[in-house]
Amino acid sequence: AQQRTLEDGELVFAEGDVGDVAYLVDQGSVEVFTGQGDTRTVFATLGPGEIVGEMALIDTRPRSASVRSIGMTRLTVISREGLNDRLESVDAMVQLVLHSMLGRFRLAMHRVREGEQAPAPPRVPESEALPVMPGDAALRHGVLQQSRMEARLREAIRTDGLQMLYQPIVQLPLGKTVGYEALVRWPQEDGRVISPADFIPLAEQTSLILELDAWVLRRSCEQAVEHAGAMRRGYVSVNLSGRQFAQPSAFDLVASTLEATGLPPERLQIELTEGVIMSDPEYAAQLLDRFQALGISIAIDDFGTGYSSLAYLHHFSADVLKLDLSFAREVRRGPNGARIVRAIAAMAEELGLRVVAEGIEAEAEGRQLYKLGCGWGQGYAYGRPVCFSEQAEGGA
Ligand code: C2E
Ligand code: CA
Ligand code: CA
Ligand code: CA
Repeated sequence: AQQRTLEDGELVFAEGDVGDVAYLVDQGSVEVFTGQGDTRTVFATLGPGEIVGEMALIDTRPRSASVRSIGMTRLTVISREGLNDRLESVDAMVQLVLHSMLGRFRLAMHRVREGEQAPAPPRVPESEALPVMPGDAALRHGVLQQSRMEARLREAIRTDGLQMLYQPIVQLPLGKTVGYEALVRWPQEDGRVISPADFIPLAEQTSLILELDAWVLRRSCEQAVEHAGAMRRGYVSVNLSGRQFAQPSAFDLVASTLEATGLPPERLQIELTEGVIMSDPEYAAQLLDRFQALGISIAIDDFGTGYSSLAYLHHFSADVLKLDLSFAREVRRGPNGARIVRAIAAMAEELGLRVVAEGIEAEAEGRQLYKLGCGWGQGYAYGRPVCFSEQAEGGA
């Protein structure tokens, strides 16, 4: 979302303007009024976490009031596209309810404009009334936090303020490094580092994830070229979000990044979760074929956490199965986990897939997983995610 900073008294928009954006007050406050000079009537003063001008998001009529800032004010612009973008990532049922509510609302507005009496709102006993959410302080606080973090993340992507770490993927049982998974981090000014688990979900709610994925892909390919020696020409394995994968431009993005950075396709692997593949199997099958024709390999990430079905896998030209780290934990716990891993590994072999066991925290575990049929592994036992300068110093 774009931001606007205003001086004291500056107009946000004027009565009669035609607009198609709303504003979230981020800092300071604004005043909603009609008329000018002596005839000015102030309706409301809105502060941080409140939204103004939102009618423009669903209605094309001119603004019915003016809005100006009081003191230095910062606003976040909410566009129609931005709103639709967010709605897409909302639960389908919530989407449906919102669309239906907006539809009824538009109809009511239309009737009022046509001079028809708006239907009187039915009287609802107080006990049955829905809680009015937008006024809720906690909700407002949450929206503000999120919108600020999003603006900072967007800035971090634009200014190369993110960092890539690389974790070795090894051949079992000896632990020889064959490649590296690229894992993103967000270093903060105060020295803290935000983990992807805390900002990827935020990015996924908007198209910011597309920019993030593109940045990660670019940086990982660049560094794999730059540090080819330290990496012993191993491959780099990059996580791609479902949103990016679903873009018609996904293939071109990957192809053009390889070309721009000069990374040989055999040194790139893309990790996708089974959920991403299963959300549109036909499209996925085609795209995977195109990726492979290009020479890059495909890993199915977090295998066993979603549909957990090996049966469909022969429809897809994947190369690698990454066994979710919960399996290493299960094997640590007892023989049941071991039986499951052995069965998965046997079927994967049948399908020509290499199995990488994730989350191996002790070498003994790695040897056991190897005996169960996992030819490759990844985890703290073989190396934590580190940045490449450290990797080089470690003499990898
Ligand atoms: P993932 O793809 O399953 O990545 C593996 C996660 O397991 C990483 O967490 C890694 O640090 C952690 N891990 C590695 N070895 C061990 C181990 O021995 N024990 C335990 N307990 N954990 C281990 P990380 O880096 O925090 O990433 C979390 C998730 O965030 C990733 O899960 C992935 O879904 C997402 N992610 C990370 N980087 C990127 C990225 O660049 N792009 C996208 N789209 N998603 C990313
Ligand atoms: Ca991964
Ligand atoms: Ca994983
Ligand atoms: Ca995971």
